[in-house]
Amino acid sequence: MRIVMIGSGYVGLVSGACLADFGHEVICVDKSTEKVEALERGEVPIFEPGLEAIIAHNRASGRLSFSLDLAGPVANADVVFIAVGTPSRRGDGHADLTYVYAAAREIAAAVTGFTVVVTKSTVPVGTGDEIERIFREEFPEKDIAVVSNPEFLREGAAITDFKRPDRIVIGTSEERATELMREVYRPLYLNEAPLYFCERRTSELIKYAANAFLAMKITFINEIADLCEHIGADVQKVAKGIGMDKRIGDKFLHAGPGYGGSCFPKDTLALVKTAQDYGSPMRLIETTVAINDTRKRAMGRKVIAACDGTVRGKKIAVLGLTFKPNTDDMRDAPAITIVQALLDGGADVHVFDPEGMEAAKAVLGPVTYGKNPYEIAIDAEAIVVVTEWDEFRALDFRRLKQEMKAPVIVDLRNIYKPEEMEKYGFSHVPIGKRKVK
Ligand code: NAD
Repeated sequence: MRIVMIGSGYVGLVSGACLADFGHEVICVDKSTEKVEALERGEVPIFEPGLEAIIAHNRASGRLSFSLDLAGPVANADVVFIAVGTPSRRGDGHADLTYVYAAAREIAAAVTGFTVVVTKSTVPVGTGDEIERIFREEFPEKDIAVVSNPEFLREGAAITDFKRPDRIVIGTSEERATELMREVYRPLYLNEAPLYFCERRTSELIKYAANAFLAMKITFINEIADLCEHIGADVQKVAKGIGMDKRIGDKFLHAGPGYGGSCFPKDTLALVKTAQDYGSPMRLIETTVAINDTRKRAMGRKVIAACDGTVRGKKIAVLGLTFKPNTDDMRDAPAITIVQALLDGGADVHVFDPEGMEAAKAVLGPVTYGKNPYEIAIDAEAIVVVTEWDEFRALDFRRLKQEMKAPVIVDLRNIYKPEEMEKYGFSHVPIGKRKVK
């Protein structure tokens, strides 16, 4: 099958490379000259475990290539995926569909013969209808079916998620499109990944409903964590205790500094806006968004409280910046707000992240970037763990304590055991448990 992926970012590049790995002929298109040139040189512009090897393998076999030009590849394609960004629109929080509609028009102008155009980007309910209207009115002679196929992969585990998904949701009522989409995902279907067909609008909503539910689950356990701190319970044990109930499940019950990233914040907000537009407000999600927004700043205050009420003139070491481990993505990372709160409090902030520091430079204020955890710990009056990278789990705590001016660890991801930290002589401030002095 000849597949074209429009947009070669976190989703487009992973999806394109994996589809090529299934044996399809894939061309990944992007508007960014820098990105396409890097890819053609064999460099991978994002950090995603396992991606480099899959790209190299499929380029070598001739099944995967990259292009700045959209028209040529699209003219010969059977299926064209739109995987461009859908950020929050400035000012009102609706999804900004500028890139999606621009790509759709370019695609329609270029297609020849029957072609399936698939929105893999996360798009609000009705976007497929609108694309179809544009095609009908502006390109009436073209034979195009518009399908919704939202993506559920997680950055940091994207290859496994794409290749072993819990489900593949496909929104279409067109027979010809259904056949082609079955063909695209046949290798996964053989792996027993369920293909779930539904109407397009339902498919579009499934993506938002899934993300909103997960964001709500995280926010729920975060509020339970706050309560635990007041009443002297342990949120990790509460999470385990409720997670053993299959109706609840144990995933997404890790208390932390609030959700961030390229999807949850913008998708929850967009769902809230869509629901309001339709006169059917989603109060649970409105509240989720509000709680999460205030939580990130509250984490800054938690650090300040751990430093005897002030960080003015104190060196604070921040471990981890990206919104989760195993990615270099800084979009809406909680670290941005937490670091800002510390800077506002007058702290001298030193940071380290294994992969995210380049991206962080564009979004963080005046901080010092260190080479490793030990370097930024020198003379620090607190270490703050914001992202739970594996390499932070087993640090040399004796050495850290020696380097620091005051042995305080604010563990916003609960990666250390309070008893152990006490043994090493740290004042350890976890999330959702009694503080060990
Ligand atoms: P991204 O910003 O990493 O990538 C988007 C790419 O599209 C960019 O490289 C940009 O240059 C390119 N682009 C924009 N307009 C173009 C055009 N007209 N022609 C060619 N290229 C164009 O974004 P992303 O994180 O990959 O997200 C893409 C979509 O997938 C979003 O809707 C997002 O919500 C959704 N999604 C993301 C994730 C995730 O984990 N990142 C997971 C599921 C769904």
